[in-house]
Amino acid sequence: MTTPNTEDAAAAGKPSRVLVLNSGSSSVKYQLLDMDDRSRLASGLVERIGEETSRLVHTPPAGGGEPRERTGRIADHDEALKAAAEELAADGLGLDSPDLAAIGHRVVHGGLRFTEPTVVTDDVLKEIERLVPVAPLHNPANITGIRTAQALRPDLPQVAVFDTAFHTTMPEYAARYAIDVETADAHRIRRYGFHGTSHAYVSRRAAELLGKEPADVNVIVLHLGNGASASAVAGGRCVETSMGLTPLEGLVMGTRSGDIDPAVTFHLKRVAGMSADEIDVLLNKKSGLVGLCGDNDMREIRRRVDEGDERAALAFDIYVHRLKKYIGAYAAVLGRVDAVVFTAGVGENSAPVREAAIAGLEELGLAVDADLNAVRSGVPRLISPDYARVAVAVVPTDEELEIATQTFALVDN
Ligand code: AMP
Repeated sequence: MTTPNTEDAAAAGKPSRVLVLNSGSSSVKYQLLDMDDRSRLASGLVERIGEETSRLVHTPPAGGGEPRERTGRIADHDEALKAAAEELAADGLGLDSPDLAAIGHRVVHGGLRFTEPTVVTDDVLKEIERLVPVAPLHNPANITGIRTAQALRPDLPQVAVFDTAFHTTMPEYAARYAIDVETADAHRIRRYGFHGTSHAYVSRRAAELLGKEPADVNVIVLHLGNGASASAVAGGRCVETSMGLTPLEGLVMGTRSGDIDPAVTFHLKRVAGMSADEIDVLLNKKSGLVGLCGDNDMREIRRRVDEGDERAALAFDIYVHRLKKYIGAYAAVLGRVDAVVFTAGVGENSAPVREAAIAGLEELGLAVDADLNAVRSGVPRLISPDYARVAVAVVPTDEELEIATQTFALVDN
């Protein structure tokens, strides 16, 4: 346990740094940011926690040299966070610093109660725990991350930033499944949506790119990473999103099927004799692009398509067809669309996906300029021609910066 020296704190002025932790079941990603200028001081990833082949990769501040790597067993999240803290300390950025204002945690499922970032109390932790049945893979890891950070700096505010929060503004008719109401309510079955931190950040940055206030624009955000989701954002508020009770619903993803007829699951049980767990693994880990063609990296799929590989071509077409259906559906939901925005690994980098998803949607006012689409850049940019009625944009997401911003806003008083 470390507590900051109060004399140091007074000398250093107001603490302005935020540590962001994204704890998965066997990994921890961390970033230390300075909120005075929103700069990234250092970052890292610990993966394969609990295995003999654990690995920590730490990226020091600019000018601090090459990324450093540690290999060898890291037993648990506690050890992982301590190792990360040692790396940060080696850069002069120790977590005992009085400059640290708070630790912000990505928490995947906040249910209906958490509509905003929330300072963690015992009661808040209990509620995150109560939501484990609807997020069995994610929430336990998030809780472990919070507990570990609390032990490291018990004096600091720990802030939970929920993936579901941005979607809690969805109207009831969008959030409810058309199933028996009593059964749904008894088991908290409804559409929650995920990637909310990214959808919130990207929709705001898209409004900036258009030179407008978020309240004045309607945007469709396509977060296309290994996990993928779409959202319809009207005047800064989410009104519809493609993920549901779990992240399985919606778009075709790297390893998830997205939308299927729910009867496929009964069929697999009755006809193929599969258990619920086996079907879960099939649909979440062995479907989507990987199930269709054996690869889930869009770069590799495009390389195969260019070489004439038919399976890869069909996988690409299925992926893009689903995207188009969602763009059309969300245009109908919003009534008026100001921008369609691509983000995350595929959305930010794959010009062929962007081109194919927008192709043929001229009737909706959508078009992509081939030259603008081909530009590789890390900044928000328009890729639609001047004549297009609706803007098409690429806006790099930054979930860690958004978590840090929301965390700091809550504790900076
Ligand atoms: P994310 O989950 O946002 O990190 O996105 C990861 C995915 O982005 C990978 O699985 C790839 O499919 C895709 N990706 C990353 N870089 C590129 C690239 N240069 N071109 C096409 N797809 C990419």
